[in-house]
Amino acid sequence: MSKENILIINCGSSSLKFAVINPSNGDEIISGIAERLGEKESFIRWKFEGNKESITLDGGAHDAAVAALLHMLEEKGLKEGIAAVGHRVVHGGETFQESCLITEEVIQGIKDCIHLAPLHNPANLTGIEAAQKHFPELPMSVVFDTSFHQTMPAEAYTYAVPYKFYSEKGLRRYGMHGTSYRFVSQRVCEMLGMEISNSKIVIAHLGNGASCAAVLNGESVDTTMGLTPLEGLVMGTRSGNVDPNVFSFLNKEYGYSLDEITDILNKKSGLLGISELSNDCRVVEEAAAEGHKQATLALDVFCYVLAKQLAGMAVATGGVDALAFTGGIGENSDLIRAKVVKALSFLGFDLDEEKNLANRFGNEGVISTDGSRATALVVSTNEELMIAQDTAALIA
Ligand code: ADP
Repeated sequence: MSKENILIINCGSSSLKFAVINPSNGDEIISGIAERLGEKESFIRWKFEGNKESITLDGGAHDAAVAALLHMLEEKGLKEGIAAVGHRVVHGGETFQESCLITEEVIQGIKDCIHLAPLHNPANLTGIEAAQKHFPELPMSVVFDTSFHQTMPAEAYTYAVPYKFYSEKGLRRYGMHGTSYRFVSQRVCEMLGMEISNSKIVIAHLGNGASCAAVLNGESVDTTMGLTPLEGLVMGTRSGNVDPNVFSFLNKEYGYSLDEITDILNKKSGLLGISELSNDCRVVEEAAAEGHKQATLALDVFCYVLAKQLAGMAVATGGVDALAFTGGIGENSDLIRAKVVKALSFLGFDLDEEKNLANRFGNEGVISTDGSRATALVVSTNEELMIAQDTAALIA
């Protein structure tokens, strides 16, 4: 077996997603997830050659998951085909402008960004440590969610608060989903035959977390997420933009603490908060179709805020050649795309209803009419492939 595949690890606080990808052709050889890490019921499951398998980890945490992963890869004869490990890391602050190979210094740099992502970066480091222990012979890279947005100009990332909070503690907008935006902007140019060095692309990445980005000539010039993923769009359970005085209001009216309000805005708001039904867009769409008023309102607010923020992104790019939808909602919800593209008709978009219906469930392509001045399209994002390609390039 040739040794060119990349093992991708995306480690969260109680889960660890993994995949083995061939960076040349994008083939996913195996993929899976270890969940409930550290709990009694922890387990690891994966998909290989069309079959789904799983084993229990007997209460094991990240280290046990990576040990089981190594054992399973050896058993299937996949281990010797792996050339390197690529880790997804959430926050690279201003230190990391691009992906890099792991060194002591890089580990320290990730630690130095913990105050910017106190939940995510420590979990990412746990995954790196476990991988270094069980795959000691393999080179490893880190790919950051934030690094693609490091090209944003100061006017886009600066909050209008006392400057010392930025200069002393790094309080600014960073943005997320950078790996997805990098992939999608390249793919849009491939699909439309555009030169990336001469392109104005706005992208809506709509998953459980959702954001938009403005990509000018291949570089991010603005995005809607900020210091944390809470800013910007309405999401499954996140509020997106609210008046910051919501904190003092909820404290005075209900006596909630800072942590409780942070939890409400991150985990109990968004589609779930307004609909009082679900954070799952499919469930909210089905309820709205049956006449559920709050579900209808939740979708209306979601789409209105999304269209308004996308129009804002068009200010950053100075016009739009292409608008791309991606992520679970962007790739599948014809309803949300239709509402948003229609709301943006003043920017030159004309929706093709048939193409909008055709491009769902794994199909990607243009959803605007042939005569549309600007092109709207659906792109299937592939962050894993981007991480595999970055890692392969770094070890080459
Ligand atoms: P994550 O951010 O966790 O990677 P995904 O990109 O998988 O999430 O997106 C999950 C979201 O996609 C959920 O809100 C889900 O309801 C939505 N989704 C998936 N399929 C559809 C569909 N057919 N119609 C509307 N929404 C969908």
